[in-house]
Amino acid sequence: MTSLSAEPLVLVDDLQTHFPIRRGLLRRQVGAVRAVDGVSFSIPRGRTLGLVGESGCGKTTVGRSILRLVEPTDGRIVIGGHDVRELGGAALRALRRRMQIVFQDPYGSLNPRMTVRRILEEGLIVHRMGDAADRLRRIQQALDRTGMPAEALERYPHEFSGGQRQRIAIARALVLEPEFVVLDEPISALDVSIQAQVLNLLVDLRDRLGLTYLFVSHDLSAVEYVADEVAVMYLGRIVEQAAAFDLRRVALHPYTIALFSAVPSVDVHRRRRRIVLPGDVPSPARPPSGCRFHPRCPLAEAACRTVDPPATRVGGHVVHCHVAARELERSGGDAAAAAERMAAALATVPAAAIG
Ligand code: SF4
Repeated sequence: MTSLSAEPLVLVDDLQTHFPIRRGLLRRQVGAVRAVDGVSFSIPRGRTLGLVGESGCGKTTVGRSILRLVEPTDGRIVIGGHDVRELGGAALRALRRRMQIVFQDPYGSLNPRMTVRRILEEGLIVHRMGDAADRLRRIQQALDRTGMPAEALERYPHEFSGGQRQRIAIARALVLEPEFVVLDEPISALDVSIQAQVLNLLVDLRDRLGLTYLFVSHDLSAVEYVADEVAVMYLGRIVEQAAAFDLRRVALHPYTIALFSAVPSVDVHRRRRRIVLPGDVPSPARPPSGCRFHPRCPLAEAACRTVDPPATRVGGHVVHCHVAARELERSGGDAAAAAERMAAALATVPAAAIG
């Protein structure tokens, strides 16, 4: 599913990351958790793709697979023209400097026994970047860019607030001068009062330094604010992708519509009744046949249980849903009109599925 037009820095094609399930004395493999099961997208240089979905949908595993922090099972990952899965040894180390990650938890991701200076210097030493004086200059610059005072250098992580720790974690990523950064739920562990500050910092850094982001989050409002494009994941797959500024208006997939129904809108004309989906997300070890969303979908039809919905495209907007495809055809490709009809159909389903 590739809808971004400029030349991509990041290209992911049919990514699969399965984790084996082993049982018995001999630890025989008896199955696999299909955490990521056929994900494709691209991100142009200097842009942000938001990856959104409920916890357990595979979005975090996508980010970690791209950086090879977990080993993908299959698929292609190309960053800056390099096939990440083909690289090893020194070539992979060199590429790793150019792609960094900021984790969700600023408490757990910083070593409490190291000063901020040592935390930021570690990567520079590993990648043999500069002498001691040059490393100090880079560290000071990274702290300054993230709004941290110079005095932070010789202090320890526990001496800072959650927001400041996340700034240090961002500085640790920036000090290596990366091109691509995976932001893995970077604000969800922070107080609501400082989430906006960190989001603004991330946007400012991207624009000033020309960074490319994969922004992984369960928070649709944050993703709408930061991202250029949004990909919605469900049970290991992308079910819908569109421009961030427009997705709320043209959401076609019942899952996307349900996610948006839980997000307050300032536009009174777009406020909808909250849709509470029945049941839980099925196990990725035994994904449902046909459309994976069918056991929870209020609009499911017979075909949904057996036929995997293919991609339907309208410009850069892509959706995997039989009913949405039919509505798009009826509306002559007018996504906004089809989206209105999908939302109206969901609004008429029995109260058991609607909160
Ligand atoms: Fe629902 Fe069917 Fe569309 Fe899947 S394909 S989202 S089950 S209507």
